[in-house]
Amino acid sequence: MAAPAQTNRRPILRRALTAMVQWIDSDYCPEGAEKMRQEPDRVDWVRVLPFVFLHLGCLGVIWTGASAFAVWTAVALYFIRMFAVTGVHHRYFSHKTYSTSRFGQFLLAVFAATAVQRGSLWWAYHHRHHHQHSDEPEDAHSPHVHGFWWSHIGWITSRRNFPTDYSTIKDLAKYPELVWLNRFDMVVPTLFALALFGLGAWLESFAPQLGTNSWQLLVWGFFISTTFLFHGTGCINSMAHLMGRRRFQTGDDSRNSAILAVITLGEGWHNNHHRFQSCTRNGFYWWEFDPTYYGLKLLSFTGFIRGLKPVPQSILAEGAHADHHASVAAAQTASVAHAQSSLRRVVPTAAAIAVATATASPALPVHKQNGPAVHKDVTELAHELNPKQPPMI
Ligand SMILES: [Zn+2]
Ligand SMILES: [Zn+2]
Repeated sequence: MAAPAQTNRRPILRRALTAMVQWIDSDYCPEGAEKMRQEPDRVDWVRVLPFVFLHLGCLGVIWTGASAFAVWTAVALYFIRMFAVTGVHHRYFSHKTYSTSRFGQFLLAVFAATAVQRGSLWWAYHHRHHHQHSDEPEDAHSPHVHGFWWSHIGWITSRRNFPTDYSTIKDLAKYPELVWLNRFDMVVPTLFALALFGLGAWLESFAPQLGTNSWQLLVWGFFISTTFLFHGTGCINSMAHLMGRRRFQTGDDSRNSAILAVITLGEGWHNNHHRFQSCTRNGFYWWEFDPTYYGLKLLSFTGFIRGLKPVPQSILAEGAHADHHASVAAAQTASVAHAQSSLRRVVPTAAAIAVATATASPALPVHKQNGPAVHKDVTELAHELNPKQPPMI
């Protein structure tokens, strides 16, 4: 009876030891990365211990307390590193929406690694895969296929999603320095945490009026800020295919959300992005808040990055066309609601005036063909809804 129990224990022990080596060398895969990727989804509890530790580290605040300096450091590092995630992991490595020198690319990869979301190559591999299979069963983090929590956090704990498939990102895998950073993806985060610890110790000695110290800066600047950063980024995976409005009829359920755009410095315009992934901006129009693009634009003036890719005119025209039809549909819904509301004696009169005015203005759709989307006012909408029908009184 003892022999089968022992043989069962061996693979478990071997998997646990493998996972521990992978904490340091994420490409260590004795059974083969391809075989690992073929496994069914299963949480690798040993492999994810550093990620669990990241969350538990936030509890350190019970002992370190807070200071204004530490809290503001956490906030600043959230936004600076969100820019690294969106501007570097996403818009550079995943989509190559601008270019830089080889050394510049290395610096960008180091900067993005401080976000503690593994290496840029792992990030780009999974993200490109998401675009290829959005909301299909192969999509590792579709909320429609796998549910909210799995797409928010579960998928990155799954054993099959740990190895990087270098064969799908050959344009990046040809640079050994990038592969090294990706393989030893704990190096930069560890140095970053140590730097914060050292800065806290230095400030305690030389600027005691700030009221901070090494452990406090480590807890706020690294653990709390990084945990929020992970969940802020995760909102795109879990919510950007559920929450918001669809401008473009993409082959998935991606959506545009201003709230997500604020949390993620512009990534909330996810439906725009799914429609056209090769441009540097996700907010296609000036009113779509996209700080990552503003930051990259500023950076391009220094010469460090170049060749930012614009949104093609054809895509802008398609967006304007879609917005126009959405506005008309909304006005149609509103007109039905008006007929049932207590304002029915007032609104029809206003509508009649609007319709009468609109009839006199010719060829409304002309501006939307040439320029960016123009939101139509009520007058135009009323005209387009019922051009021949007499006003409803
Ligand atoms: Zn998506
Ligand atoms: Zn993308």
